[in-house]
Amino acid sequence: MARKKVFGNCRICGIYTKLSFEHVPPEAAFNNHRVVGKHIFELINKDPDYYFDGKGHISQRGAGAYTLCEKCNNDTGAWYGDAFANFAHQSLYILKHAKGRPSLYYPFRIYPLRVIKQIITMFFSINKDQFRFSHPDLVKFVLNKNERYLSPDIRILVYFTLGPHARYVGGTSISAIEVNPDEISRDMLDDMLNQYQRDYPKSLYSSEIAFPPLGYVLSFGLEPLDNELTDISFFARYPYGDWTSLHLKLPVNPVNTWYPGDYRSKEQIRNNFEENTQIEKEIQKRKQAEKNQ
Ligand SMILES: [Zn+2]
Repeated sequence: MARKKVFGNCRICGIYTKLSFEHVPPEAAFNNHRVVGKHIFELINKDPDYYFDGKGHISQRGAGAYTLCEKCNNDTGAWYGDAFANFAHQSLYILKHAKGRPSLYYPFRIYPLRVIKQIITMFFSINKDQFRFSHPDLVKFVLNKNERYLSPDIRILVYFTLGPHARYVGGTSISAIEVNPDEISRDMLDDMLNQYQRDYPKSLYSSEIAFPPLGYVLSFGLEPLDNELTDISFFARYPYGDWTSLHLKLPVNPVNTWYPGDYRSKEQIRNNFEENTQIEKEIQKRKQAEKNQ
C-alpha cells in the first residue's frame, strides 16, 4: 500500500516540506508493533482497564506521526537512534532481571549524549510548532550532533514503566497516543490542564513520553521537582563519542491515566474516584438540604 504524503512544517527545523513518519520512540526501541491509540476525550473519568480494551485508532507500524522532514528524521535517527535503542534494551534487561522490581543502582553502558538527544528529538515530535519557536537552543542541540550542555532550567527525567500503556503529553497537546490532534480544541485542553494543575499543584511537567520500558519527562524551571524521577540532564555534558558506564537507579512507575506525572496504581485511581464521587454526593446533598430549608 502506498504511504500517504503529508506536507507541513518540520517540528525541528521548521522547513515546510513533505514530512516523514517519525516513530516515537524509534522502531528499534520496541516500537515496531501494532499499537492502539485512544482520543484523549475518550479517556476522561474512565476506569484504567478501559485504556487497554484493544479498541481505538490502530497503527500497525508502531506509535508515531508525520512530524519531521526526511533530513531531520534521517540525521537524528543515524546519530542517536541506535544508542537510544540500546539504552531501552538495557533497561528492559534490568527490568526482567529484577522481575519488575529493580531497587538498586544498575550499570548502564551507553552513549549518554546520544541518548538524551534522542529523547529531546522525541519531545519535538510530540509538541507543536510553538515548542520549536520557544526553544531555539534545543533545535541547535539536536541538529548539531556535537553540541553539548543544556540550559540549567531544562531537565530531563526518566523512570521505568512496565506497560502496557503508553502516554504522550506535549506542552501544547495531549493524547494517549496522538490520534486526531486536529479535533482537539485548544481551549478544552487548556481547561483540562488547568484543572489538573489545580488538583496537582506540584506538577511542573511540560511534556512526558511513556513507552515501556521507559518514561521521560521534560521539565522547565529551576525549582526542584518534588518527585522521585531520575534526573539525567547531566547526559548532555558528555561528548558525542563518549561511550561510558553509568550507574543509575530508576523508579518503576505505573502509567494508568493520560495525566502527565500521574503514577497512581489502578487501585489508587479507583479509590480516588470513589472518594471524589462521595464528596460530590455530599455536596449535592447539602445543596438540596439548603434548598429545602
Ligand atoms: Zn527538519
